Amino acid sequence: MKRRMPAGFTLIELMIVVSIIGILAGVAIPKFAQLLRKSQEGSTKGNLGALRSILSIYYADNEGLFPSCIFATNSAVLTDSFVPKYTTSIPNSNPSAYHAPASGVLCHTPIDATGCTHEGYGWIYVGTNSADRRHGNLFISCYHTDTKASQWRTY
Ligand SMILES: [Zn+2]
Repeated sequence: MKRRMPAGFTLIELMIVVSIIGILAGVAIPKFAQLLRKSQEGSTKGNLGALRSILSIYYADNEGLFPSCIFATNSAVLTDSFVPKYTTSIPNSNPSAYHAPASGVLCHTPIDATGCTHEGYGWIYVGTNSADRRHGNLFISCYHTDTKASQWRTY
């Protein structure tokens, strides 16, 4: 006569299952964190592109003049120029885990822009004063690197 198998799992079987779940979680959790970081990086690059597009449209609308810029001020100049005509709000810059997401815009004039070391400000607007207004460009305020080892400030 065939021996009946006992119902349920043995302790060894349960321990094997628990350890397999542990190994899977150990792989999946870091992978998830990396995906989250990549999606934040993607949205930051997308927002930079959107802001640069708005800047181009502003330039065309204003007969070849960019918004003016006063050196090293957390100026509302872009907010005043862009909202609500071109966008509902300035989007967040969220480049690295070192900074909280931020939508601030810090102004820099072209002469000092290369020496700009501001970090985690949100965005850097490089422009000229109200008498000039021939220059204007936007950058991400971060010297850290992304997951592809490119410095954020160079985008
Ligand atoms: Zn940074």
